[in-house]
Amino acid sequence: MLRKVIMADLKDEIKDNNEEKEVISRNFIEQAIDKDLAEGVYSEVVTRFPPEPNGYLHIGHAKSIILNSGLAEEYHGTFHLRFDDTNPTKEKTEYVNSIVEDVRWLGADFGGQVLFASDYFDKMYECAVMLIKKGKAFVCDLTAEEIREYRGTLTEPGKNSPYRDRSVEENLKLFEEMKEGKYPDGSKVLRAKIDMASPNINMRDPVIYRVARMSHHNTGDKWCIYPMYDFAHPIEDAIEHITHSICTLEFEDHRPLYDWVVRECEFDPAPRQIEFAKLYLTNVITGKRYIKKLVEDGVVDGWDDPRLVTISALRRRGFTPESIRRFVTLCGVSKSDSSVDYAMLEYCIREDLKLKRARISAVLDPIRLVIDNYPEGVTEELEVVNNAENEELGSRKVPFSRELVIEREDFMIEPPKKYFRMFPGNEVRLMNAYFVTCTGYETDENGNVTVVHATYDPASRGGNSPDGRKVKGTIHWVNAATAVRATVRLYENLVDEEKGKLNDDGTINFNPNSLTVCENCYIEPTVAGAKAYESFQFVRNGFFCVDVKDSTPEHLVFNRIVSLKSSFKI
Ligand code: ATP
Ligand code: MG
Repeated sequence: MLRKVIMADLKDEIKDNNEEKEVISRNFIEQAIDKDLAEGVYSEVVTRFPPEPNGYLHIGHAKSIILNSGLAEEYHGTFHLRFDDTNPTKEKTEYVNSIVEDVRWLGADFGGQVLFASDYFDKMYECAVMLIKKGKAFVCDLTAEEIREYRGTLTEPGKNSPYRDRSVEENLKLFEEMKEGKYPDGSKVLRAKIDMASPNINMRDPVIYRVARMSHHNTGDKWCIYPMYDFAHPIEDAIEHITHSICTLEFEDHRPLYDWVVRECEFDPAPRQIEFAKLYLTNVITGKRYIKKLVEDGVVDGWDDPRLVTISALRRRGFTPESIRRFVTLCGVSKSDSSVDYAMLEYCIREDLKLKRARISAVLDPIRLVIDNYPEGVTEELEVVNNAENEELGSRKVPFSRELVIEREDFMIEPPKKYFRMFPGNEVRLMNAYFVTCTGYETDENGNVTVVHATYDPASRGGNSPDGRKVKGTIHWVNAATAVRATVRLYENLVDEEKGKLNDDGTINFNPNSLTVCENCYIEPTVAGAKAYESFQFVRNGFFCVDVKDSTPEHLVFNRIVSLKSSFKI
């Protein structure tokens, strides 16, 4: 993994430096395209992303979108967004809309035109008729179960259907009657006539059309026969003049059928299928089917629950398109399945936001701090730089007064060794403000600390040592009276990483701490009026984003995008 990462990064740098192209290692898809162009197989590059609108897109789809649109861009070609909506049962307009939004947000340029496979139903029907006329397809009356039995196994050849030798005329008539609704659902299918003894099971007279009375989100009740995926997909690609039809590895064994359909339906030029490995994240649930179940079971709060890795969830959590692109580039493309650590995704968003966002103070678990020698009723303003690593972000004024809040964990009555923050008698720096010395504390009847007392050194304004004396601890704080009171949500992995993703019975091990809600947070007034998707660094706590669903101007709700600590290094 590490090696791949370094290669990809290197590649970027080389590109950035505009050095010679030869140095760049090209992935196997680019190599195949280079060869096709050099040999004149194609004169341009047309790619597509063909989602089935049966759920929301996830990070794996982002990889496919960025790969396909990236290739089109690299070769000055065209990229299509086409819905593979040939299976009406599971498809919904809600999914279509979310998918278009996600593809746009990722910045993939599909030329503004959204295509639908269902717009090609007429052409697919014509192709089927053509196959029948050529003696390459037949209507079969076997039940689904019988078809399965006749199919054979990996080690045994299949048996011909007794309906295989129907005449062309009879097949044409029956197929038309299937279309006209004369036969009940499931009673007849159209099958390609290929080879029941083929070592590739996909080539054993696959079903290409079925009778199914289902309303389609696009074509309504016009059709009661629907094409099967393996028949429809190559035709969709061919109609759109796709040159390189890039899909995931599970379709490798379907490629001979893909080629057969394109050839027998006499498309020229023929699109070419190339497979690559799916993107998996270790201990993270990808896969529409599984995510859908989490949504339906109410384990998460919708498809965009920030703990998921759907694109809408990542956006809601505060990930940027740039961070996802960077992640996909770092992953590279490969021919063998592997799993990437979620920490790499976190690394990418941290890197993206590090220099772009102001670093401000937010106290998530507050405890009062009273500076007893600071004048009552006075509020001063301290000038604070927004991002010490990026001067361009300028500075802001932050209020300071006698009553502040600090993080509860930044005070201890009896500190362990190497604890350099607040404890009675200890001096610390209040970040960007003053040196303060802890003078005492108050507790409630249960012994919980309610207030910490301190005195400040006016000569240390700005947090600078007045006389060269050093303090070991620096803690952040927020002025209590002027703070914005907000809710902050912290996330951990949805899956229990210790126990692993799945139990033997297929159920998921959930992490009971995947969501922590901090209701009583104090944030410096800089965030007042922050809008949905706006993000900030809260010093020491991480990067946070205003939630699009639950935040209101009166009460802000933030999601933690990522903490500042990293276990991932390049
Ligand atoms: P899932 O397995 O999550 O249900 P899918 O493959 O059924 O996804 P489709 O809508 O059929 O989803 O896929 C659209 C495109 O996205 C396909 O070309 C598919 O190969 C690609 N794709 C899906 N999952 C991944 C993944 N994890 N990594 C890379 N590409 C993917
Ligand atoms: Mg699918």
